[in-house]
Amino acid sequence: MPALVLSTLNARYAHASLGLRYLFANLDEDIRAETKIVEFVIGSKTEVLVEQLLALDAKAIGFGVYIWNVEETTKLIAMLKAVAPQIKVVIGGPEVSYETAEQRIYQLADYVVTGQGDVTFNKLARALLHGPKPLMKVHVGEAFELDDIALPYDYYTDEDIARRHLYVEASRGCPFKCEFCLSALDKTAEPFNTERFLAEMAKLYDRGARTFKFVDRTFNLNVKTSLAILDFFLERINAHPDDPCFAHFELVPDHLPEKLKDTIAKFPAGTLQFEIGIQTWNPEVQGHISRKQNNDKAKENIRWLHENSHAHMHVDLIAGLPSETFESFGLGFDTLARLGPHEIQVGVLKRLRGTPIIRHTDAFAMRYNPEPPYNILANTELSFADVQRISRFARFWDLIGNSGRFTQALPLVLAEAPTSAFSRFLALADWLYAETGATHQIALERLFDLVYRWLISDGSVAIETAQAAILADYQRSGSKGRLSFMTRGFTASDDAANASSRKATPARQRRHLSDATSRSD
Ligand code: SF4
Repeated sequence: MPALVLSTLNARYAHASLGLRYLFANLDEDIRAETKIVEFVIGSKTEVLVEQLLALDAKAIGFGVYIWNVEETTKLIAMLKAVAPQIKVVIGGPEVSYETAEQRIYQLADYVVTGQGDVTFNKLARALLHGPKPLMKVHVGEAFELDDIALPYDYYTDEDIARRHLYVEASRGCPFKCEFCLSALDKTAEPFNTERFLAEMAKLYDRGARTFKFVDRTFNLNVKTSLAILDFFLERINAHPDDPCFAHFELVPDHLPEKLKDTIAKFPAGTLQFEIGIQTWNPEVQGHISRKQNNDKAKENIRWLHENSHAHMHVDLIAGLPSETFESFGLGFDTLARLGPHEIQVGVLKRLRGTPIIRHTDAFAMRYNPEPPYNILANTELSFADVQRISRFARFWDLIGNSGRFTQALPLVLAEAPTSAFSRFLALADWLYAETGATHQIALERLFDLVYRWLISDGSVAIETAQAAILADYQRSGSKGRLSFMTRGFTASDDAANASSRKATPARQRRHLSDATSRSD
């Protein structure tokens, strides 16, 4: 039986916790021998998790607490302490590193480690298991050099390697100061020793690892290091093209020197993915959140990646930033859509604990959800109803735009410039919600039918064109069912009659199209 358990609730089974493995790797050998990592997934029954933890009969349990699990971890600790108050509970992680004392989870826990716990947790663990009893409740994470800590990669099990994403990091921190982001609190980015890091990656690769997700906030800051890492993967992909690996990196969009481009261009399809944060194209908003971004350079680089590389691009936009209007957010979406990334992640601003964006709370009447994930509910530019519409837009965009299931139909939904892709998709999202009253649990077949119905009614697409596109997408999805127009023998005449009766009234149509473009009137 372990004396110490390291636990967390991951967002999905596929997400193996890098943080727990760092803590485990940096325990003294004798403490490590008495410690076990136990990972759960959110959405599990609290009673079941408590039962499983109690069965381990540990003296102390450390929990990694994040924005996605704080509610469930709070419930878990409350129940655990109710039945086994003798177990010492330690919490750590970004969610409890700031505004700590005002949280319920803090009241329930015995000890808290704030900030980076790699060194401090080891000392606390020794004291908990072997004394003397720690005097303080809050332990501020000690600073350390990255070269002085143990790397965690040996603690990915064979099952992790076979079935889960492997999170890795070549650097920590970020030199930028975007005010909504926790990394804005970092002084700068610090790299791990590249040779040491790549030696660990080679070990993982030799054990069979093929999916590497880099958690570095800004992978392309140091070109020499970025090139060494890309070359590491490219060599292996070229040596074993029938067994390629896949690497995911976060990029800053306005920094892509020629040398880096040359190497990126050599990666075959399906091996490289970039997450690129744009967040907003609006210079006024960028000023409010202290985001330094050369928009022209960012556009040029995204266009270059689209035209010259096989890299899969996932680009982030955030709605609800101070002074961003409905209209300017829509224009930003249109700008991005024209650049052709594979996915556009539409997020709604969250007020992460500790982030400097709170300085705008009064000036922009920023109203945040008091419960996790602390998402914006309204501000001076967006009403609660506006935020709800954008949230539904984001959800339907994931289902239709980002899913890759509607490759033929999506261009018909968005239509060509100068029509606004944002306005068209917003009209579809509003219509879908009006028809279904839901944003979740819409069966795939029904979704195809709904998109088809919108295309031939409010979307004003010719019936034959819409049927051909929807049918091609549906067949490519591998579904074996029949869509409504297929069951009628694929005739367009019925749909022509139905479309005109379903078509939006002029008033409804005006609302769809004008809402997206008149918010700053
Ligand atoms: S948003 Fe990205 S660039 Fe800005 S501080 Fe956070 S990690 Fe750094």
